[in-house]
Amino acid sequence: MQQPLNTLYAATATAAGIVPVLPGLAGEQCADVCIIGGGYTGLSAALHLAKQGRSVALLEANTLASGASGRNGGHVGVGQRVDQQTLQAQLGATAASALWQLGLEAVELVEQLVADHSIDCGLRNNIIHVAHKKRYITDYIEEVDFLKRQYGYADCRYLAADELAEQVGSSQFYGGLLDTRSRHLDPYRYALGLAEAAQAAGATLYEHSRAVSFASDSDGVTATTAHGQVRAKQLIVACNGYLGNLVPAMAGTIMPINNFIAASEPLSPALAQSLLPGGSAAQDSRFVINYWRLSADNRLVFGGGENYRRAFPRDIVGFVRPHILSIYPQLADTRLDYGWGGTLAITLRRMPDFGQLADNIWYAQGYSGHGVPTATLGGKLLAEAIAGERSRWELFANLPRQKFPGGTLLRWPGMVAGMAYYALRDRL
Ligand SMILES: Cc1cc2nc3c(=O)[nH]c(=O)nc-3n(C[C@H](O)[C@H](O)[C@H](O)COP(=O)(O)OP(=O)(O)OC[C@H]3O[C@@H](n4cnc5c(N)ncnc54)[C@H](O)[C@@H]3O)c2cc1C
Repeated sequence: MQQPLNTLYAATATAAGIVPVLPGLAGEQCADVCIIGGGYTGLSAALHLAKQGRSVALLEANTLASGASGRNGGHVGVGQRVDQQTLQAQLGATAASALWQLGLEAVELVEQLVADHSIDCGLRNNIIHVAHKKRYITDYIEEVDFLKRQYGYADCRYLAADELAEQVGSSQFYGGLLDTRSRHLDPYRYALGLAEAAQAAGATLYEHSRAVSFASDSDGVTATTAHGQVRAKQLIVACNGYLGNLVPAMAGTIMPINNFIAASEPLSPALAQSLLPGGSAAQDSRFVINYWRLSADNRLVFGGGENYRRAFPRDIVGFVRPHILSIYPQLADTRLDYGWGGTLAITLRRMPDFGQLADNIWYAQGYSGHGVPTATLGGKLLAEAIAGERSRWELFANLPRQKFPGGTLLRWPGMVAGMAYYALRDRL
């Protein structure tokens, strides 16, 4: 079940009066493309399709970006969720290199969209990756070297423990990577900016319009909500972790995971500066990643901990607090004003799952925690593919696809055990 959007992001956007109120779908509408889901995938697809001159009707079950896109950590990381050396070993040098280029393009695309549409989302530079175990230092050093040698990428450098401690205000870590091409932002404002840009380009967006089914006929596809229908030539399913039972055929390749974030009270400038003096975002090397950044008003926005159940913990602030204190014990007396969770979709190989259910029914999902850049790019690639330019779409769509063991209904117990095992290893 989707939880209310009780985030710091929604509170500040509401206070700023920038949250749109959009109509629900009523009666029958026609469009070239119908999109189900109003997160980054759906909104970026809507924008890029509308820019091509196509008519677009987007159906969002709740409010825009009420899924992961309005709830996430706002890290816009370079590359893919899987490191390049692993991708090269799995897929070969040519495919890995193409995916690296798309990973760079995804971050550039976010920057470009923010600039082109004047999206006020506090976009900032740099992500620092920090090693919580000594053995990861070698991996980090090798990664820097590999990226330079293989792709001429020089925007990432190794940070030894002393320098790192200064950059992240904590001496808990053994070493780190500073990536100066990665970015971070307020994720909800970014999504709202995409929505505004899509509307300005001509797309029609509907809220409180859950698609309950869709069906093809000789004329195209019809998506049905409680109060209306959209008849379209093409359909995109962009529901990711909130797919539910809409398309059982798509559910076996993804597993929904709940991840949690807390935001502190505004910190004094001196305390904020002592945590992240360079204004970078940071994330650690745990299997269940801790990730953090400062908001525009100097709150620590910290993601830590996840669960694999249908329900969120009752006390999310209490759930996230120990993760914060394990890195910043100096915040023991700091109030946490907000705590929220969101649902993302992971795949077994942690690479996105793009595909088609029919010639005119498309989907993109399973960004595995790397969706701010990749879902934005996914929406663009969907638009390209619908326009007949499939080659870049296929770099993702042709990746080996693996179902979770046990199929849709049975995969939970086994996967939960597996995830809990890796989370436990983090602590050893
Ligand atoms: C707590 C958290 C932290 C994260 N941090 C990061 C991060 O720092 N960096 C990063 O890159 N990624 C992060 N992610 C992942 C990232 O947020 C997602 O990959 C990305 O937002 C996916 O976008 P999406 O549009 O595919 O899905 P979503 O944003 O989840 O959108 C899907 C939408 O579909 C709608 N929907 C579902 N069913 C229907 C239906 N039947 N009819 C109509 N609408 C429907 C939902 O209401 C929802 O709005 C995080 C995720 C979470 C949950």
